[in-house]
Amino acid sequence: MGGLSRLRPAAIRKGNQKLVKSINRNIVLNIVRQHGPISRADAARMSQLYPATVSSIVNDLIAEGFVREVGLGDSTGGRQPVMLELNRGVYAACGASIEVGRVRVCLTDLDARVLARVEGPLVSQEGPRRNLPAIASAIREIIGAGQVPPEKVLGVGVVYPGPVDTATGTIQASPHMPGWGGFSLKTALESEIDYEVMVDNDANAAAWGEKWFGAAKGYSSFLYVMADYGLGGGIVIDDRLYRGRNDGAGEIGHMTVDVDGPQCKCGNFGCLDVMASGTAIARKMISDIKRGAKTLCSELAGGDIEAVTMDTVLEAAAAGDPHARAIVEESGRYVGIGLANLVNCFNPELIVLGGQLALRSNLFFASARETARRRAWPVLGKDLGIVVSALGHDACVIGAASLALTRVFESPSISAYA
Ligand SMILES: [Zn+2]
Repeated sequence: MGGLSRLRPAAIRKGNQKLVKSINRNIVLNIVRQHGPISRADAARMSQLYPATVSSIVNDLIAEGFVREVGLGDSTGGRQPVMLELNRGVYAACGASIEVGRVRVCLTDLDARVLARVEGPLVSQEGPRRNLPAIASAIREIIGAGQVPPEKVLGVGVVYPGPVDTATGTIQASPHMPGWGGFSLKTALESEIDYEVMVDNDANAAAWGEKWFGAAKGYSSFLYVMADYGLGGGIVIDDRLYRGRNDGAGEIGHMTVDVDGPQCKCGNFGCLDVMASGTAIARKMISDIKRGAKTLCSELAGGDIEAVTMDTVLEAAAAGDPHARAIVEESGRYVGIGLANLVNCFNPELIVLGGQLALRSNLFFASARETARRRAWPVLGKDLGIVVSALGHDACVIGAASLALTRVFESPSISAYA
Protein backbone atom coordinates (compact mmCIF):
# COMPACT_ATOMS: atom_id res chain seq x y z
CA MET A 1 0.00 0.00 0.00
CA GLY A 2 2.88 2.33 0.86
CA GLY A 3 4.30 1.92 -2.62
CA LEU A 4 0.97 2.70 -4.18
CA SER A 5 0.48 5.89 -2.17
CA ARG A 6 3.99 7.06 -3.10
CA LEU A 7 3.22 6.45 -6.74
CA ARG A 8 -0.12 8.21 -6.75
CA PRO A 9 0.96 11.91 -6.86
CA ALA A 10 3.23 11.23 -9.82
CA ALA A 11 0.43 9.41 -11.61
CA ILE A 12 -1.90 12.34 -11.03
CA ARG A 13 0.69 14.83 -12.29
CA LYS A 14 1.21 12.72 -15.39
CA GLY A 15 -2.56 12.53 -15.92
CA ASN A 16 -2.89 16.30 -15.57
CA GLN A 17 -0.10 16.94 -18.06
CA LYS A 18 -1.79 14.71 -20.58
CA LEU A 19 -5.10 16.49 -20.02
CA VAL A 20 -3.54 19.96 -20.31
CA LYS A 21 -1.75 18.93 -23.50
CA SER A 22 -4.98 17.59 -24.93
CA ILE A 23 -6.91 20.77 -24.02
CA ASN A 24 -4.20 23.00 -25.53
CA ARG A 25 -4.20 20.92 -28.70
CA ASN A 26 -7.94 21.38 -29.07
CA ILE A 27 -7.71 25.11 -28.38
CA VAL A 28 -5.16 25.53 -31.20
CA LEU A 29 -7.05 23.23 -33.57
CA ASN A 30 -10.29 25.18 -33.02
CA ILE A 31 -8.56 28.53 -33.56
CA VAL A 32 -7.19 27.27 -36.88
CA ARG A 33 -10.63 25.82 -37.77
CA GLN A 34 -12.50 29.03 -36.97
CA HIS A 35 -9.95 31.69 -37.94
CA GLY A 36 -7.74 30.09 -40.60
CA PRO A 37 -5.84 31.06 -42.62
CA ILE A 38 -3.96 32.21 -39.52
CA SER A 39 -0.27 32.49 -38.62
CA ARG A 40 1.33 30.62 -35.73
CA ALA A 41 1.97 33.97 -33.99
CA ASP A 42 -1.69 35.03 -34.22
CA ALA A 43 -2.82 31.58 -33.07
CA ALA A 44 -0.49 31.98 -30.06
CA ARG A 45 -1.91 35.43 -29.30
CA MET A 46 -5.51 34.21 -29.52
CA SER A 47 -4.86 31.09 -27.46
CA GLN A 48 -2.70 32.94 -24.88
CA LEU A 49 -0.31 29.98 -25.02
CA TYR A 50 3.46 30.29 -25.40
CA PRO A 51 4.51 30.58 -29.08
CA ALA A 52 6.80 27.57 -28.64
CA THR A 53 3.89 25.50 -27.28
CA VAL A 54 1.72 26.51 -30.24
CA SER A 55 4.50 25.70 -32.73
CA SER A 56 4.95 22.26 -31.22
CA ILE A 57 1.20 21.58 -31.28
CA VAL A 58 0.94 22.84 -34.88
CA ASN A 59 3.76 20.51 -35.94
CA ASP A 60 1.86 17.57 -34.43
CA LEU A 61 -1.40 18.65 -36.11
CA ILE A 62 0.35 18.96 -39.49
CA ALA A 63 1.96 15.53 -39.05
CA GLU A 64 -1.44 14.02 -38.19
CA GLY A 65 -3.00 15.69 -41.24
CA PHE A 66 -5.52 17.92 -39.44
CA VAL A 67 -3.82 21.22 -40.34
CA ARG A 68 -1.90 22.36 -43.40
CA GLU A 69 0.30 25.28 -44.39
CA VAL A 70 -1.18 27.51 -47.12
CA GLY A 71 1.30 30.08 -48.34
CA LEU A 72 2.52 33.30 -46.81
CA GLY A 73 0.52 36.02 -45.06
CA ASP A 74 1.12 39.77 -44.82
CA SER A 75 4.24 40.83 -42.97
CA THR A 76 3.87 42.99 -39.88
CA GLY A 77 7.46 44.23 -40.15
CA GLY A 78 9.54 41.04 -40.22
CA ARG A 79 9.38 37.94 -42.37
CA GLN A 80 6.08 37.02 -43.98
CA PRO A 81 4.38 34.42 -41.75
CA VAL A 82 3.39 30.96 -42.95
CA MET A 83 -0.38 30.66 -42.78
CA LEU A 84 -2.28 27.65 -41.43
CA GLU A 85 -5.73 26.30 -42.13
CA LEU A 86 -7.83 23.23 -41.37
CA ASN A 87 -6.99 20.40 -43.74
CA ARG A 88 -10.66 19.67 -44.40
CA GLY A 89 -10.48 16.86 -46.88
CA VAL A 90 -7.98 14.45 -45.32
CA TYR A 91 -10.35 13.00 -42.74
CA ALA A 92 -14.07 12.34 -42.98
CA ALA A 93 -16.98 11.25 -40.84
CA CYS A 94 -20.01 9.19 -41.67
CA GLY A 95 -23.52 10.15 -40.58
CA ALA A 96 -26.64 7.99 -40.89
CA SER A 97 -30.23 8.99 -40.25
CA ILE A 98 -32.77 6.23 -39.66
CA GLU A 99 -36.20 7.46 -40.70
CA VAL A 100 -39.60 5.94 -41.35
CA GLY A 101 -39.16 3.98 -44.59
CA ARG A 102 -35.55 4.90 -45.32
CA VAL A 103 -32.00 5.36 -44.12
CA ARG A 104 -30.02 8.34 -45.36
CA VAL A 105 -26.24 8.22 -45.09
CA CYS A 106 -23.60 10.82 -45.88
CA LEU A 107 -19.87 11.25 -45.71
CA THR A 108 -18.63 14.70 -44.65
CA ASP A 109 -15.27 16.41 -44.50
CA LEU A 110 -13.87 17.85 -41.26
CA ASP A 111 -16.00 20.98 -41.73
CA ALA A 112 -19.20 18.90 -42.06
CA ARG A 113 -19.52 19.55 -45.78
CA VAL A 114 -21.23 16.64 -47.51
CA LEU A 115 -18.83 14.75 -49.80
CA ALA A 116 -21.16 11.93 -50.80
CA ARG A 117 -24.58 10.61 -49.92
CA VAL A 118 -26.64 7.48 -50.36
CA GLU A 119 -30.18 6.50 -49.44
CA GLY A 120 -31.60 3.03 -48.89
CA PRO A 121 -35.12 1.73 -48.24
CA LEU A 122 -36.09 0.41 -44.79
CA VAL A 123 -39.03 -1.75 -43.88
CA SER A 124 -39.09 0.13 -40.61
CA GLN A 125 -42.34 -1.44 -39.38
CA GLU A 126 -40.63 -4.84 -39.29
CA GLY A 127 -38.17 -4.11 -36.52
CA PRO A 128 -34.41 -3.53 -36.36
CA ARG A 129 -33.04 -7.05 -37.05
CA ARG A 130 -34.73 -7.11 -40.45
CA ASN A 131 -33.29 -3.67 -41.32
CA LEU A 132 -29.80 -3.86 -39.86
CA PRO A 133 -28.20 -5.34 -43.04
CA ALA A 134 -29.58 -2.44 -45.16
CA ILE A 135 -28.28 0.16 -42.70
CA ALA A 136 -24.83 -1.46 -42.48
CA SER A 137 -24.68 -1.88 -46.23
CA ALA A 138 -25.46 1.83 -46.89
CA ILE A 139 -22.73 2.82 -44.41
CA ARG A 140 -20.19 0.45 -46.00
CA GLU A 141 -21.13 1.76 -49.46
CA ILE A 142 -20.50 5.41 -48.57
CA ILE A 143 -17.24 4.67 -46.73
CA GLY A 144 -16.05 2.62 -49.69
CA ALA A 145 -17.06 5.28 -52.23
CA GLY A 146 -13.45 6.48 -52.46
CA GLN A 147 -13.81 10.06 -51.22
CA VAL A 148 -11.20 9.37 -48.51
CA PRO A 149 -9.34 6.18 -47.62
CA PRO A 150 -11.47 4.09 -45.19
CA GLU A 151 -8.82 4.39 -42.45
CA LYS A 152 -9.29 8.19 -42.49
CA VAL A 153 -12.96 7.93 -41.55
CA LEU A 154 -13.08 9.08 -37.94
CA GLY A 155 -16.25 7.32 -36.92
CA VAL A 156 -19.90 6.74 -37.62
CA GLY A 157 -22.77 8.66 -36.04
CA VAL A 158 -26.30 7.29 -36.29
CA VAL A 159 -29.45 9.16 -35.35
CA TYR A 160 -32.86 7.75 -34.54
CA PRO A 161 -36.27 9.49 -34.26
CA GLY A 162 -36.88 8.59 -30.62
CA PRO A 163 -35.18 8.74 -27.22
CA VAL A 164 -31.75 7.04 -27.13
CA ASP A 165 -29.57 5.98 -24.19
CA THR A 166 -26.41 7.55 -25.55
CA ALA A 167 -24.05 5.75 -23.14
CA THR A 168 -25.00 2.33 -24.54
CA GLY A 169 -26.41 3.43 -27.90
CA THR A 170 -29.74 1.74 -27.09
CA ILE A 171 -33.08 2.97 -28.46
CA GLN A 172 -35.28 3.58 -25.43
CA ALA A 173 -38.68 3.95 -27.02
CA SER A 174 -40.01 4.02 -30.53
CA PRO A 175 -43.30 5.78 -31.14
CA HIS A 176 -43.08 5.59 -34.96
CA MET A 177 -41.46 2.20 -35.61
CA PRO A 178 -42.72 -0.83 -33.69
CA GLY A 179 -40.13 -3.22 -32.27
CA TRP A 180 -37.16 -0.84 -32.17
CA GLY A 181 -37.49 0.14 -28.49
CA GLY A 182 -34.84 -1.58 -26.32
CA PHE A 183 -32.63 -2.41 -29.33
CA SER A 184 -28.89 -1.83 -28.83
CA LEU A 185 -28.16 -0.21 -32.18
CA LYS A 186 -24.54 0.62 -31.30
CA THR A 187 -23.60 -2.97 -30.37
CA ALA A 188 -25.43 -4.42 -33.36
CA LEU A 189 -23.88 -2.03 -35.90
CA GLU A 190 -20.37 -2.28 -34.45
CA SER A 191 -20.50 -6.03 -35.07
CA GLU A 192 -21.30 -5.31 -38.74
CA ILE A 193 -18.88 -2.46 -39.52
CA ASP A 194 -15.35 -1.86 -38.38
CA TYR A 195 -15.89 1.59 -36.82
CA GLU A 196 -16.90 3.08 -33.53
CA VAL A 197 -20.60 3.94 -33.73
CA MET A 198 -22.21 6.78 -31.76
CA VAL A 199 -26.00 6.79 -31.51
CA ASP A 200 -28.19 9.73 -30.55
CA ASN A 201 -31.67 11.12 -30.94
CA ASP A 202 -32.15 12.85 -34.32
CA ALA A 203 -33.14 16.29 -32.99
CA ASN A 204 -30.36 16.30 -30.36
CA ALA A 205 -27.78 15.49 -33.02
CA ALA A 206 -29.23 18.10 -35.39
CA ALA A 207 -28.96 20.69 -32.59
CA TRP A 208 -25.35 19.64 -32.06
CA GLY A 209 -24.66 19.96 -35.80
CA GLU A 210 -26.23 23.46 -35.87
CA LYS A 211 -24.02 24.50 -32.96
CA TRP A 212 -20.78 23.37 -34.55
CA PHE A 213 -21.43 23.83 -38.24
CA GLY A 214 -24.74 25.63 -38.74
CA ALA A 215 -27.01 28.47 -37.62
CA ALA A 216 -25.98 28.35 -33.93
CA LYS A 217 -22.22 28.66 -34.47
CA GLY A 218 -20.86 30.92 -31.74
CA TYR A 219 -23.93 30.52 -29.46
CA SER A 220 -23.60 28.85 -26.06
CA SER A 221 -27.26 28.41 -25.14
CA PHE A 222 -29.97 27.86 -27.71
CA LEU A 223 -32.97 25.73 -28.56
CA TYR A 224 -33.34 23.69 -31.71
CA VAL A 225 -36.81 22.60 -32.79
CA MET A 226 -37.43 20.16 -35.59
CA ALA A 227 -40.93 20.53 -37.03
CA ASP A 228 -41.48 17.66 -39.44
CA TYR A 229 -43.77 14.60 -39.45
CA GLY A 230 -43.09 14.67 -35.70
CA LEU A 231 -41.95 17.47 -33.43
CA GLY A 232 -38.68 17.17 -31.53
CA GLY A 233 -36.05 19.40 -30.08
CA GLY A 234 -32.57 19.75 -28.65
CA ILE A 235 -31.52 21.99 -25.78
CA VAL A 236 -27.96 23.32 -25.66
CA ILE A 237 -26.98 25.05 -22.43
CA ASP A 238 -23.52 26.48 -21.84
CA ASP A 239 -22.08 24.67 -24.88
CA ARG A 240 -23.42 21.25 -23.85
CA LEU A 241 -26.45 19.29 -24.93
CA TYR A 242 -28.77 19.15 -21.96
CA ARG A 243 -29.83 15.50 -21.76
CA GLY A 244 -31.77 15.24 -18.53
CA ARG A 245 -31.86 12.29 -16.11
CA ASN A 246 -32.14 9.54 -18.71
CA ASP A 247 -31.46 11.24 -22.04
CA GLY A 248 -35.08 12.29 -22.43
CA ALA A 249 -34.67 16.09 -22.46
CA GLY A 250 -35.81 17.99 -25.53
CA GLU A 251 -39.01 15.99 -26.20
CA ILE A 252 -40.83 19.25 -26.71
CA GLY A 253 -43.44 17.60 -28.92
CA HIS A 254 -44.99 16.19 -25.78
CA MET A 255 -45.54 19.40 -23.87
CA THR A 256 -49.26 20.06 -23.43
CA VAL A 257 -50.54 23.02 -25.45
CA ASP A 258 -54.28 22.20 -25.27
CA VAL A 259 -55.58 20.76 -22.00
CA ASP A 260 -58.68 19.39 -23.76
CA GLY A 261 -56.90 18.33 -26.95
CA PRO A 262 -56.97 14.90 -28.65
CA GLN A 263 -54.93 11.94 -27.37
CA CYS A 264 -51.30 11.70 -28.47
CA LYS A 265 -49.33 8.51 -29.24
CA CYS A 266 -47.54 9.03 -25.91
CA GLY A 267 -50.85 8.56 -24.07
CA ASN A 268 -51.24 12.18 -22.95
CA PHE A 269 -53.73 14.67 -24.38
CA GLY A 270 -53.24 17.89 -26.34
CA CYS A 271 -49.46 17.47 -26.85
CA LEU A 272 -47.78 19.87 -29.28
CA ASP A 273 -47.07 16.87 -31.54
CA VAL A 274 -50.71 15.83 -31.84
CA MET A 275 -51.81 19.45 -32.40
CA ALA A 276 -49.18 20.77 -34.80
CA SER A 277 -46.81 18.17 -36.30
CA GLY A 278 -46.75 17.34 -40.01
CA THR A 279 -48.69 14.17 -39.23
CA ALA A 280 -51.26 16.24 -37.30
CA ILE A 281 -51.83 18.77 -40.08
CA ALA A 282 -52.40 15.98 -42.60
CA ARG A 283 -54.87 14.34 -40.20
CA LYS A 284 -56.67 17.65 -39.73
CA MET A 285 -56.87 18.25 -43.47
CA ILE A 286 -58.31 14.75 -44.10
CA SER A 287 -60.91 15.29 -41.39
CA ASP A 288 -61.86 18.71 -42.80
CA ILE A 289 -62.22 17.34 -46.35
CA LYS A 290 -64.52 14.61 -45.01
CA ARG A 291 -66.63 17.34 -43.46
CA GLY A 292 -66.92 19.10 -46.80
CA ALA A 293 -63.98 21.53 -46.87
CA LYS A 294 -63.02 22.63 -50.38
CA THR A 295 -59.24 22.54 -50.84
CA LEU A 296 -56.60 21.95 -53.48
CA CYS A 297 -55.41 18.99 -51.37
CA SER A 298 -58.23 16.77 -52.72
CA GLU A 299 -57.00 17.37 -56.27
CA LEU A 300 -53.29 16.97 -55.34
CA ALA A 301 -54.08 13.62 -53.70
CA GLY A 302 -55.79 12.45 -56.89
CA GLY A 303 -59.15 12.19 -55.18
CA ASP A 304 -57.82 9.69 -52.60
CA ILE A 305 -58.43 11.66 -49.41
CA GLU A 306 -56.53 9.19 -47.21
CA ALA A 307 -53.41 9.82 -49.36
CA VAL A 308 -53.15 13.44 -48.10
CA THR A 309 -49.84 13.91 -46.23
CA MET A 310 -47.87 16.81 -44.80
CA ASP A 311 -46.33 17.20 -48.29
CA THR A 312 -49.77 17.62 -49.84
CA VAL A 313 -50.78 20.29 -47.32
CA LEU A 314 -47.49 22.18 -47.75
CA GLU A 315 -47.79 22.05 -51.53
CA ALA A 316 -51.38 23.33 -51.42
CA ALA A 317 -50.41 26.11 -48.98
CA ALA A 318 -47.52 27.16 -51.25
CA ALA A 319 -50.00 27.34 -54.16
CA GLY A 320 -52.17 29.73 -52.13
CA ASP A 321 -54.95 27.34 -51.06
CA PRO A 322 -56.72 29.24 -48.22
CA HIS A 323 -57.68 26.13 -46.22
CA ALA A 324 -54.17 24.65 -46.35
CA ARG A 325 -52.71 28.04 -45.43
CA ALA A 326 -55.01 28.28 -42.41
CA ILE A 327 -53.95 24.82 -41.17
CA VAL A 328 -50.22 25.54 -41.66
CA GLU A 329 -50.56 28.92 -39.95
CA GLU A 330 -52.38 27.35 -37.00
CA SER A 331 -49.64 24.72 -36.69
CA GLY A 332 -47.07 27.55 -36.56
CA ARG A 333 -49.13 29.26 -33.86
CA TYR A 334 -49.15 26.14 -31.65
CA VAL A 335 -45.41 25.67 -32.15
CA GLY A 336 -44.94 29.36 -31.27
CA ILE A 337 -46.83 28.83 -28.01
CA GLY A 338 -44.59 25.85 -27.25
CA LEU A 339 -41.55 28.01 -28.01
CA ALA A 340 -42.82 30.79 -25.74
CA ASN A 341 -43.04 28.27 -22.87
CA LEU A 342 -39.49 27.15 -23.57
CA VAL A 343 -38.22 30.72 -23.81
CA ASN A 344 -39.67 31.47 -20.38
CA CYS A 345 -37.95 28.37 -18.95
CA PHE A 346 -34.55 28.66 -20.62
CA ASN A 347 -34.09 32.29 -21.71
CA PRO A 348 -32.06 31.15 -24.75
CA GLU A 349 -29.80 33.33 -26.91
CA LEU A 350 -31.30 31.87 -30.08
CA ILE A 351 -33.96 29.51 -31.41
CA VAL A 352 -33.23 27.49 -34.55
CA LEU A 353 -36.23 26.06 -36.38
CA GLY A 354 -35.66 23.11 -38.68
CA GLY A 355 -37.63 20.25 -40.24
CA GLN A 356 -39.75 20.36 -43.37
CA LEU A 357 -42.48 22.61 -41.94
CA ALA A 358 -39.98 25.35 -41.12
CA LEU A 359 -37.82 24.82 -44.21
CA ARG A 360 -40.60 24.66 -46.76
CA SER A 361 -43.17 27.10 -45.39
CA ASN A 362 -42.38 30.70 -44.60
CA LEU A 363 -45.99 30.99 -43.45
CA PHE A 364 -45.35 28.35 -40.75
CA PHE A 365 -42.02 29.92 -39.76
CA ALA A 366 -43.39 33.48 -39.54
CA SER A 367 -46.43 32.32 -37.56
CA ALA A 368 -44.24 30.37 -35.07
CA ARG A 369 -41.76 33.23 -34.72
CA GLU A 370 -44.33 35.97 -34.20
CA THR A 371 -46.34 33.89 -31.72
CA ALA A 372 -43.21 32.93 -29.75
CA ARG A 373 -42.11 36.55 -29.49
CA ARG A 374 -45.58 37.79 -28.56
CA ARG A 375 -46.41 35.04 -26.04
CA ALA A 376 -43.07 34.84 -24.24
CA TRP A 377 -42.50 37.01 -21.20
CA PRO A 378 -41.75 40.39 -22.88
CA VAL A 379 -38.27 40.91 -21.50
CA LEU A 380 -37.24 37.43 -22.72
CA GLY A 381 -39.11 37.39 -26.03
CA LYS A 382 -38.37 40.88 -27.25
CA ASP A 383 -35.72 40.87 -29.99
CA LEU A 384 -35.12 37.12 -29.51
CA GLY A 385 -33.33 35.68 -32.54
CA ILE A 386 -35.43 32.96 -34.18
CA VAL A 387 -33.87 31.62 -37.38
CA VAL A 388 -34.29 28.80 -39.88
CA SER A 389 -31.82 25.89 -39.72
CA ALA A 390 -28.67 26.43 -41.78
CA LEU A 391 -28.16 22.68 -42.30
CA GLY A 392 -31.59 22.44 -43.93
CA HIS A 393 -32.79 19.03 -45.07
CA ASP A 394 -29.36 17.59 -44.22
CA ALA A 395 -29.62 18.54 -40.51
CA CYS A 396 -30.09 14.93 -39.37
CA VAL A 397 -27.30 13.33 -41.42
CA ILE A 398 -24.86 16.19 -40.75
CA GLY A 399 -25.89 16.11 -37.08
CA ALA A 400 -25.13 12.39 -37.08
CA ALA A 401 -21.71 12.94 -38.68
CA SER A 402 -21.02 15.74 -36.19
CA LEU A 403 -21.23 13.21 -33.34
CA ALA A 404 -18.02 11.70 -34.71
CA LEU A 405 -16.48 14.95 -36.02
CA THR A 406 -16.70 17.01 -32.85
CA ARG A 407 -14.76 14.43 -30.88
CA VAL A 408 -11.74 15.74 -32.77
CA PHE A 409 -12.42 19.37 -31.87
CA GLU A 410 -13.86 19.20 -28.38
CA SER A 411 -11.69 19.84 -25.36
CA PRO A 412 -11.89 16.83 -23.03
CA SER A 413 -13.01 19.13 -20.23
CA ILE A 414 -16.08 20.30 -22.09
CA SER A 415 -16.96 17.10 -23.88
CA ALA A 416 -20.67 16.39 -23.98
CA TYR A 417 -19.86 12.86 -25.08
CA ALA A 418 -17.14 12.07 -22.52
ZN1 LIG B 1 -47.51 13.28 -26.56
